[in-house]
Amino acid sequence: MANITLKAGESFEHAHTERSRTTLIAGDAEVIVFGKRIRLAIGEDQFFPAGASHKIINTGTTNCTVDCCNEIGTEGPPGR
Ligand SMILES: [Zn+2]
Repeated sequence: MANITLKAGESFEHAHTERSRTTLIAGDAEVIVFGKRIRLAIGEDQFFPAGASHKIINTGTTNCTVDCCNEIGTEGPPGR
């Protein structure tokens, strides 16, 4: 699990070697993946396939925190 904190207006593009899950923890952020811009909602998981480059953009006026991690061995939202 990796928590990424971005200042207002900052962005961070990266990819994972495994299927990944991106979740907004705090603030306002969007993610661009496959040329599509997705608005993140706090606590709402977004899943991306292995190798998919995704760019997280802080669209708010304060720091945002995003949890971005590999989702190894699962094929859907964790339903525990
Ligand atoms: Zn990521």
